[in-house]
Amino acid sequence: MTRPRSGCAHSGRKGTVAVGSRTNVVKLIRVYKEYRRGGSQVIAVDDVSLEVLDGEFCAIMGPSGCGKSTLLNLIGGIDRPTRGEIILGNQSTAKFQDKDWTRIRRHEIGFVFQAFHLIPGLTAEENVGLPLLLGGVRGEEVQYRVAESLDAVGLSSRCRHRPAELSGGEQQRVALARALVHHPRLLLADEPTGNLDSVTGDEVISLLRDLPRRGGQTVIMVTHSEAAAKNADCVYTMKDGRVHGLIRPNQIGDHLI
Ligand code: ADP
Ligand code: MG
Repeated sequence: MTRPRSGCAHSGRKGTVAVGSRTNVVKLIRVYKEYRRGGSQVIAVDDVSLEVLDGEFCAIMGPSGCGKSTLLNLIGGIDRPTRGEIILGNQSTAKFQDKDWTRIRRHEIGFVFQAFHLIPGLTAEENVGLPLLLGGVRGEEVQYRVAESLDAVGLSSRCRHRPAELSGGEQQRVALARALVHHPRLLLADEPTGNLDSVTGDEVISLLRDLPRRGGQTVIMVTHSEAAAKNADCVYTMKDGRVHGLIRPNQIGDHLI
């Protein structure tokens, strides 16, 4: 689906660059993902084409089982498409080997998951520091960037706590600090509010919207939650593996998904 150049909410956003001059951070061209289950075939992602622009907070909204996680995993290189092309920045990933995806994920992509996926035996600051260590950063720079990242999510006072000593919302904020600590260009969030109550979920969504914007990052969030998607700059709707359309957040209630 080629983006209408004037059709999205960001065209009127204060302080943004004119749409025509913005580049794609993610572009999918006719992407499919098929799984074999027993003797049958599941088409989890079915001929999806879409674009996400630089600095945009984009939601992909659809019901459980429609292929949201599969799509996000394809964009982040956790899984590979059966057919079609994924372009990150101006680089096609078609010929990427595993080592290329590993490098891209370490330096350019951050992930947030529904179930937080923090390492239970590590403190908040140790969890947040992991992507830096994996990316080869050492010494005082790790301490400085971890402190900065935990401060940005309002959890400096919990830096020595382990995940079991934190609430769900706090754990997700640690996970967000971890996802942003290496200043990735792209943040991918899979149902980030799925395990949270609505108040805590709103807090996480505010951070997810504002922190990357301050750092110039692009965010793609998949969600079944209308309340979460309403905070995005633009929303794609998804059903049965297909992406149906790009809508403005204030049109969400008008669309049956
Ligand atoms: P969502 O995140 O929207 O709930 P998923 O992407 O997890 O949906 O799943 C989409 C479809 O693909 C579902 O029918 C699911 O059962 C199927 N699916 C996902 N992963 C696999 C897999 N590894 N093997 C077989 N089928 C899968
Ligand atoms: Mg999912």
